[in-house]
Amino acid sequence: MAVYNAPLQDMRFILNDVFDAEKLWQANENLAHVDMDTVNMILEEMAKLSKNVLLPINREGDEEGAKHSIGADGNGVVSTPAGFKEAYAQYAESGWIGLGGDPEYGGQGFPKMVTMLAEEMIFTTNQSFALYPNLTVGASLALLASASEEQKQTYLEKMYSGEWSGTMCLTEPHAGTDLGIIKTKAVPNDDGSYDITGTKIFITGGEHDLTDNIIHLVLAKTLDAPAGSRGISLFVVPKFHVNADGSLGERNHVSAGSIEHKMGIKASATCVMNFDNAKGWLVGQENKGLAAMFVMMNYERLTMGLQGLGGTELAYQNALVYANDRLQSRSDSGVKNPDKSADQLIHHADIRRMLLNAKANAEASRCFAMYVARQLDIAKFSTDDDAKKAAAERVALLTPVTKAFLTDKALESTIDCQQVFGGHGYIREWGMEQIVRDTRIAQIYEGTNGIQSLDLLGRKVAKNGGTHMDAFITEIREFVGNMTADHAIKEATLKAADTLEELTKTVLANISERKDEINGCAVDYLQVTGYACYAYMFAMMVEASQGKEQSESAEFYANKAKLADYYVGRVLPRIHAHAKMVRAGSEPMTAFDLDYFTPAEA
Ligand SMILES: Cc1cc2nc3c(=O)[nH]c(=O)nc-3n(C[C@H](O)[C@H](O)[C@H](O)COP(=O)(O)OP(=O)(O)OC[C@H]3O[C@@H](n4cnc5c(N)ncnc54)[C@H](O)[C@@H]3O)c2cc1C
Repeated sequence: MAVYNAPLQDMRFILNDVFDAEKLWQANENLAHVDMDTVNMILEEMAKLSKNVLLPINREGDEEGAKHSIGADGNGVVSTPAGFKEAYAQYAESGWIGLGGDPEYGGQGFPKMVTMLAEEMIFTTNQSFALYPNLTVGASLALLASASEEQKQTYLEKMYSGEWSGTMCLTEPHAGTDLGIIKTKAVPNDDGSYDITGTKIFITGGEHDLTDNIIHLVLAKTLDAPAGSRGISLFVVPKFHVNADGSLGERNHVSAGSIEHKMGIKASATCVMNFDNAKGWLVGQENKGLAAMFVMMNYERLTMGLQGLGGTELAYQNALVYANDRLQSRSDSGVKNPDKSADQLIHHADIRRMLLNAKANAEASRCFAMYVARQLDIAKFSTDDDAKKAAAERVALLTPVTKAFLTDKALESTIDCQQVFGGHGYIREWGMEQIVRDTRIAQIYEGTNGIQSLDLLGRKVAKNGGTHMDAFITEIREFVGNMTADHAIKEATLKAADTLEELTKTVLANISERKDEINGCAVDYLQVTGYACYAYMFAMMVEASQGKEQSESAEFYANKAKLADYYVGRVLPRIHAHAKMVRAGSEPMTAFDLDYFTPAEA
């Protein structure tokens, strides 16, 4: 079975040394109840649950998968793999789903800086399992932001407790990225409800056997809605109606027609959901549904970044064990293991390269996710309006980077770690191919990484003339300018910031003349942004680990500086290749006639 020990020391390093979280919490009256002792307990409990409950059912979940059948009442039934029900019950009973929930409705009100670490651990040990509670958390956030008081009273407590789960129903067979063309209809009834009719596909957790009720958040259009995304409304559609006293009533007309057979996350039920005059209730205002749904979508985007980080961490830990065990060839720098026929893989520099790529990505990803989580907490809990606004802008700017860069780096890292196993990484026995398969989806769903890149360059940069990016670059420069550590990361981070600034200006100058420029450059622009962000994170980690020579953990801190050296020397130079590709612009793609792309006839 795969091994996993939660990287608690690294997590505490990020919380305490890099971001001084407790000081932040104590200085904020809305978070003063959060202290590090409690947080340490939370992390330790989640570390145990992930390792002892979720990891053991990860492999079997992949083998068995979720199963679909038709029940006696004609509705679709989905059963999760063995052990999932019990694990979910334990997870819910321990209060994990409501950890960050609003205390007014039974949540525990912990900040994102804490909940993100818990999320990392469940995604590390069981990506399929993690999706069920995470969709619920996302749906409850959307309800909290836009639902009526009555709706909040009806749903939130049961969702936080895990008795009911949540979904997001956006995608339709003909409408994935382009939600403006959805066809699902909402027809108003006299009692204030709507009849919802349409087919949604790819709905994660659309049906399963883990909870008594499933609360679907559904995008649909009313009959007279404006065309495009300005005509989308959001509805809450429960699987079972809820009586006035909170008990479950009749079955609603929503059912899972089938589930998808997929490359990975096989224990996560990805459902085709048929809404056949299902009764739903408007959430927020008519035609404002996409904005309401974005609360959930943004949450899920950050969460997908954590899914990527989880995949990287699990792949790294297992590759590390293998590299220390497997004897193959002699080390180029002399025999290390004379009593054995060969040396361990770990003595080969190329094996270390692959492991260090994954380790560097995991540490920078965790630090970056924490940076964004901190901004989210400031935006939510701060009592200073200016600070709230600045933090919200920073979150908006960096959400697509968190989603896309973390998951891109994750696939790369999981493949590097699979490579450490040679052929043994390709066969099922060692579990590495599952990690690669499971992690792959994070680049695709919740807005593909291409779409995230367009969001970054188009909406988050070009739309405001680059001012939000400028503010971020200024922050990076100020931080590096104030660093006391003497390390190559300083100059490298400043160079990365310069590159990002120069590219932003170049692209903005070109977009009025070259209509395809944003579309053609966005992916590489996001990569440049991601590398600059990770350089900044390494700068923060280096600064936080200096002056600790006398500490009990002196070696731990010294290794942070070494990993930053590795990043500067062996990873960060990639930023220049991506920058060059951005400078080349969209012309190399648009130069072809459409004929070139016409499929050959048989
Ligand atoms: C396992 C799984 C679980 C999912 N869970 C959910 C869920 O719970 N709820 C839900 O609603 N959906 C869910 N989805 C759907 C997912 O979010 C979509 O698959 C994704 O957003 C892409 O949509 P699409 O598949 O229709 O691709 P398309 O929109 O057809 O895109 C195809 C390709 O074209 C690119 N593209 C599209 N438009 C542009 C453009 N303007 N410029 C440049 N490139 C473009 C895309 O990046 C992509 O590479 C899930 C999908 C999967 C596979």
